Amino acid sequence: MINIRNLSVKCGRCNTYQTLCEFKQGEEWNLYTYECESGPCDPELSRTIVEVPSDLDQFANRDPEWKGGRRHAGAEE
Ligand SMILES: [Zn+2]
Repeated sequence: MINIRNLSVKCGRCNTYQTLCEFKQGEEWNLYTYECESGPCDPELSRTIVEVPSDLDQFANRDPEWKGGRRHAGAEE
C-alpha cells in the first residue's frame, strides 16, 4: 500500500516542499497535484502531479470522500 501522506514532494527549482492542492480519483490511477506555494516559483509552472495506482492508494481508500484542498507539506501533519 502507498499512503500519499508518507511522501514529501520537493520542488526541483526552489527546493521547498510543495503543497498538496488537488486530488482526482481515477479508475486506475489517483492523481495528486502539488504546487509551490511559498517559494519563488509560479504555481502554474512548478506543478507536480503524482500518480498512485488506485488499488494501492491507502489514503484515498481510507477516506474516499476526501477531495483535496487540505494543506500538506511532506510527512508532517
Ligand atoms: Zn518551486
